[in-house]
Amino acid sequence: MLAHRLDGIPPTIFTTMSALAARTGSVNLGQGFPDVDGPPELIAGAVEALETGHNQYAPGPGVAALRQAVARHQQRHYGIELDPDTEVVVTTGCTEAVAAALLGLVDPGDEVVVLEPYYDSYPAMIQMAGGVRRPVTLRGPDFRPDLDELRAAVTPRTRFVLLNSPHNPTGTVLTREELQAVADLAIEHDLVVITDEVYEHLVFDGREHLPIATLPGMSERTLTLSSAGKSYSVTGWKVGWATGPAELVGAVLAAKQWLTFTSGSPLQPAVARALDERPDFPAQLAAALQDRRDLLCAGLADAGLDVHVPEGTYFATTDISSLGWEDGRAFCLALPERAGVVAIPTQGFYDSGAGRHLVRWAFCKERPVIEEGLRRLRAADLAR
Ligand code: GLN
Repeated sequence: MLAHRLDGIPPTIFTTMSALAARTGSVNLGQGFPDVDGPPELIAGAVEALETGHNQYAPGPGVAALRQAVARHQQRHYGIELDPDTEVVVTTGCTEAVAAALLGLVDPGDEVVVLEPYYDSYPAMIQMAGGVRRPVTLRGPDFRPDLDELRAAVTPRTRFVLLNSPHNPTGTVLTREELQAVADLAIEHDLVVITDEVYEHLVFDGREHLPIATLPGMSERTLTLSSAGKSYSVTGWKVGWATGPAELVGAVLAAKQWLTFTSGSPLQPAVARALDERPDFPAQLAAALQDRRDLLCAGLADAGLDVHVPEGTYFATTDISSLGWEDGRAFCLALPERAGVVAIPTQGFYDSGAGRHLVRWAFCKERPVIEEGLRRLRAADLAR
């Protein structure tokens, strides 16, 4: 029993692989969640909110303190000015922001240009909205967008570009030139850009994340999505937001009110305080993650894998052809038994075959966890 709008959409790979990790006692380098929680003040803020009566429905667009803090965050980091009353809406994680944006904006038959590999909720939600995805494929070894392919993806039916930078799963951080190419297209063809920037602070080697909304002519046509989950290591809190012009934010709210009505009240003031009082936390997290990225990437290379070192996010990508494998899914299903480790096959994030031999590994784990995973991989026979 499944409605046609879900035809061909498999269960999310993250749930499948985390269940496999739990069942087999494997080291879980699959689903991206840290195994240490965010700053103690943040947790204390939530406890305080629970105990001081923040337990009934939040206002529809979100608790005012959080909308104001999100507006200050965009101003502090990027110089973006927002009216917290009309240009910010709080969502239940960025996943709901993606869902509400697509349901609120995309009409049946509208084409959405989207970077492939796509985070799995994008194709699911484009399809549920009746939209049509037009992929622009990021190919190894560098996983950069081909700008000619990008331009060729736009047709008279295209209305949206769905971006993700820093990009899950490849770790690509779009450069100013790449973003400018998207901006030029959007302006020329009157497209709206929906941009998922949840890894905005998790960039490495001195790189800077540039929101496309800051490019000339883009603030009026960009809906920016983010969340507290990655920046503050509270992925289970599901506190996200959408920001941008009032008419785009209004469309998100128009759909969101029928999805979750409002989002969890006590977590919102806590996130607001963390944004204002611990603006330093995400950069410290990124520095620690960079070390763990290096640890994981070196260890995966030692285990015989061909590693792509990411510029941002929680994830490194490997090509498993060097071990004689062609099918990442088969590799990942064999991995718990062979090595006691779980990773994510990337092929489900592609329509094309370009990801068949790719596997994603998370380094947002404590060093001993990564070291144990690597020890197991080194000890195992990974060859096909
Ligand atoms: N964003 C996380 C990842 O890519 C997981 C989120 C989820 O499980 N839906 O691993």
